Amino acid sequence: MIYLDAAGTTPVRREVLEAMWPYLTGDFGNPSSHHELGERAHTALEAARADVAGVLGCRPSEVVFTSGGTEADNLAVKGIALARRSADPRRNRIAVSAVEHPAVLESARSLARLHGFAVDVVAVDREGRVAPEALAAVVGPETAVVSVMYANNEVGTVQPIADLAAIARAARVPFHTDAVQAAGVLPLGVRELGVDALSISGHKLGAPKGVGALFVAGRVSVEPLVDGGGQERGVRSGTENVAGAVALATALRLAEAERTTAAPRLVALRRDFVAHVVELVPEALLTGSPEDRLPGSASFCFPRVSGESVLLELERRGVVCSSGSACAAGSSDPSHVLLALGLDAETAQTAVRFTLPASVTREELDQAAVALGEAYAAVTAIAR
Ligand code: PLP
Repeated sequence: MIYLDAAGTTPVRREVLEAMWPYLTGDFGNPSSHHELGERAHTALEAARADVAGVLGCRPSEVVFTSGGTEADNLAVKGIALARRSADPRRNRIAVSAVEHPAVLESARSLARLHGFAVDVVAVDREGRVAPEALAAVVGPETAVVSVMYANNEVGTVQPIADLAAIARAARVPFHTDAVQAAGVLPLGVRELGVDALSISGHKLGAPKGVGALFVAGRVSVEPLVDGGGQERGVRSGTENVAGAVALATALRLAEAERTTAAPRLVALRRDFVAHVVELVPEALLTGSPEDRLPGSASFCFPRVSGESVLLELERRGVVCSSGSACAAGSSDPSHVLLALGLDAETAQTAVRFTLPASVTREELDQAAVALGEAYAAVTAIAR
């Protein structure tokens, strides 16, 4: 099988499994317990927090471990908006881009439905980019939080985060970015990016599913969404997932150490793959930005051909990829991301997304491009 769905998830790395193993077995203590086993778990948890903080360039106290990217996004968008409005009741609006992951978009909708916030959805251009002027047009003294993703999971477009964050800062509005897809391949320094909050998820990086983290700057207040024993400095109660935190920290550290060699390699492989696909299937339309995109992301539309049918034909030929985001898979609605890029609903149903794992080889990509050419020919032959 040639696995080209790394944005969907990745396998757990051996080094990660080895690092987390002791905290699932011998050192299984609860980090809040005051005996030696508890102390050992606590020490491991705090070392993991320091490692994550090291990669993000923040203080360890600014890292909150969560159950994944979805929870980190919810905590950032809802937690910051609610706290900000409590401090200043005028701040009753939130701004999000039109291409956010559902974890952000649905958090915004829930704030509107349950708490009466108004939501400003910022449009993107045909490549999926938020123009700084478009954000500046909606951010003001009534805005409680802004959330714009670092890189899009469906079309790979990378946003000008530092420029967007500067606009929010000028209006004294906290800025959150969902860096779930960026982590491991793009620089994550939160001070350089100028962000107040940033989400990451373990399973996109070679750690298990069900663990993530939210950086939230010390100066920014967050209303907890989960109440209980007051773990994670009261922001996220619940006995901490020590092994998961160790896994996330290990995976993030390894990815960061490898990033400057892995990312350019993926860029070169992806460029050649895209060229190969377009040579074999001239109708293929690359979606997202041709240049400002995630190193390993190649997303296409194949006008008038069902993306799901292409996927099935590809899988029969041993190539696994996705029709859009894994979260939207199973739904027959056209992708909100592709619609936001200005594609019509019919074309948006023809999407096929290849996301390259760091381990991918040139031979695998050559085989995948040939398989795609065959799959496309098979689907169009049936359609005729
Ligand atoms: N944000 C983005 C951009 C994603 O791609 C994903 C997962 O696909 C998430 C958030 C959700 O992360 P998790 O699966 O850890 O809940």
